Amino acid sequence: MSRKMIVAGNWKMNLSRREAVELASAVAAAGVPAGVEVAVFPTFPWLVPVHEALGDSDVQLGAQDSYIEPAGAFTGEVSPVALAELCSAVLAGHSERRHVIGESDELVGKKVEAIQQAGMTAYLCVGETLEERQAGRAQEVVERQLASGLAGVDAGMLHLLVVAYEPVWAIGTGVAASAEDAQEMCAAVRQWLAARYGEPGGQVRVLYGGSVSPANVEELFACPDVDGGLVGGASLDAGSFGTLVEAAGRLAAV
Ligand code: PEP
Repeated sequence: MSRKMIVAGNWKMNLSRREAVELASAVAAAGVPAGVEVAVFPTFPWLVPVHEALGDSDVQLGAQDSYIEPAGAFTGEVSPVALAELCSAVLAGHSERRHVIGESDELVGKKVEAIQQAGMTAYLCVGETLEERQAGRAQEVVERQLASGLAGVDAGMLHLLVVAYEPVWAIGTGVAASAEDAQEMCAAVRQWLAARYGEPGGQVRVLYGGSVSPANVEELFACPDVDGGLVGGASLDAGSFGTLVEAAGRLAAV
């Protein structure tokens, strides 16, 4: 069974309303190649206008975070049930939430569960810091994040799971992992999933994220265990994001 490639744009806390709508319209107009899924993750307030701009295109809409409860006295948080009215996917445990906001492995696991319970695909983000890599602990750290991130996920929910391997040192730095390192770590993620869930675990899409750009996309996406990318900076420009989507389309056609 072949795995469909994904090109997902994490817009982070960027873009004005007008810019977000223009970018969404351009991404929708560019279309989605056969064998590829395209998703964009705008900041919360622009979910509604971006949803409208995407219209009936095949581009999927996702949120960058979610709370763990469906409703209640949680001032400032956003319910996964509310998000599900607009979105088909949500990021969980992005490195900026783990390392800037301070989310724990345990909280990320609860978010994955809540996102799936609301019927959306959870994009579980995992990845080691530079210090951890230099200490030879990259795989151990990622496996720990997988174990807690998926603690409440049984095999029946794997259709609502994507894992994004994003080394912290490569995010927003312009220094992507080499294709060899990306392949090695995405293969390790896949092996962990297969060991935990059996054959269906090995079929979960595993993305690479961290300074993916038009210059390195071909070699990164060509890795056998890399099923596409979670992209920050290069997703903010319709031209560069379109180049990544086209690259995925070419690879999917092979
Ligand atoms: C990200 O935000 O998930 C990301 C990978 O960012 P960038 O592509 O800018 O490194």
